[in-house]
Amino acid sequence: MARKLLLTHIDVPGINTLEVYRQKGGYRAVEKALKSMSPDDVLEEVKKSGLRGRGGAGFPTGMKWSFLAKPEGVARYLVCNADESEPGTFKDRYLMTHIPHALIEGMIVSSYALGTATSYIYVRGEMMPQIRILEQAIAEAKNAGLLGKNILGSGYDLEIFVHPGGGAYICGEETALLESLEGKRGNPRIKPPFPAVSGLYGCPTVVNNVESIASVVPIINDGGDEYAKIGIGRSTGTKLISAGGNLRKPGVYEIELGLPVEEFIYSDEYCGGIADGKRLKAVVAGGSSVPILPANLILKTSTGESRLMSYESLAEGGFETGTMMGSGGFIAFDEDQCIVRNTYNFTRFYRHESCGQCSPCREGTGWMEKILYNIEHGQASPQDIDLLWDIQRNIEGNTICPLGDAAAWPVAAAIRHFRDEFEWHINNPQEAQTKNFGLAHYADPLAPLAE
Ligand code: SF4
Repeated sequence: MARKLLLTHIDVPGINTLEVYRQKGGYRAVEKALKSMSPDDVLEEVKKSGLRGRGGAGFPTGMKWSFLAKPEGVARYLVCNADESEPGTFKDRYLMTHIPHALIEGMIVSSYALGTATSYIYVRGEMMPQIRILEQAIAEAKNAGLLGKNILGSGYDLEIFVHPGGGAYICGEETALLESLEGKRGNPRIKPPFPAVSGLYGCPTVVNNVESIASVVPIINDGGDEYAKIGIGRSTGTKLISAGGNLRKPGVYEIELGLPVEEFIYSDEYCGGIADGKRLKAVVAGGSSVPILPANLILKTSTGESRLMSYESLAEGGFETGTMMGSGGFIAFDEDQCIVRNTYNFTRFYRHESCGQCSPCREGTGWMEKILYNIEHGQASPQDIDLLWDIQRNIEGNTICPLGDAAAWPVAAAIRHFRDEFEWHINNPQEAQTKNFGLAHYADPLAPLAE
């Protein structure tokens, strides 16, 4: 059985309550940090652990914390990014639903390390049940003296507030999230300044993902060195993976980083293989924005090694033959799935979610959607594939925030690895409109979005 740090007690009845969470050792990290460690000691343990941000970018959490400006007399903030709107990703929601105190405990320890008196959990607006669960957990913690004034007699004061999100994908981008938290439209900010210098209300701010913050708890309980022993290379610790698509056992799994992708897909401990006995065609390994890889490249690297679930191994070969860990939204496609239709679906989503500030993203996503629609409907010419390629290249790297890249990369990878499928659609217009590629469970997969 693989080692678990975050989901160890997931099956214990009542683990969502403070009472049961504490019976299972919960809030030991708060006691340890506040009673026997300085804020810098906590920061040092997080640095030693090698923990990398679990929201998508994979930036070292301890380093991010160390960038936080600490001018005298200026408030600073910790904001938990619980927006989780990347298609294919649902692990933070799972954690918040079933073990909300793991996040609250991580928030208290992290806030203590950063010296914040007020911290926020920004939860995707559609997740009302999770918002209520977290508010209940905060109330329980406060009644038990784990939040509020003079926590556990340590002299440290902290309030945590849950804030419903603006209901847009872009509000998961950290500066758009801060705008939204301030009550404005969630438009990304131009950086610099970075939030560590000028974030929420113009004050130094750290924005961390739910899983990153929850991972601080085992790091403080067991020590950063122990945490760093789990995993492989610079991919330390465990990672929650949301597994979806055509898998026999979709769900949320906690893996040790370094697990072979093949084992994750086919072993009964995890996904149990491809549904209905079909063959694997492709995988999106880290949420809709990362490059899709065909089965041969997700199982083996370009040098013939086993591909591992780690930041480095998934990225091996760059975008020519590799992909990214991203947010851990692992989507498997069986042999009957249509890559063109899937790329169209993803692009349609990004076009809809573009905030419109940058021309390459605002216009480019719309153009890509239209061309993909035409290809999917057998109304395109062979030159449209090259046009599509040019458009995505003109978006990548030319926008204020990463949504532009997120829209461009799936299109680039689909053309790079499945160009023959695009050509097939163009050369077989009648069949392209009627062939069932197995996505019939979408109500109307080809209907353009309402304006
Ligand atoms: Fe808005 Fe897109 Fe520009 Fe991001 S890349 S700021 S979403 S227009």
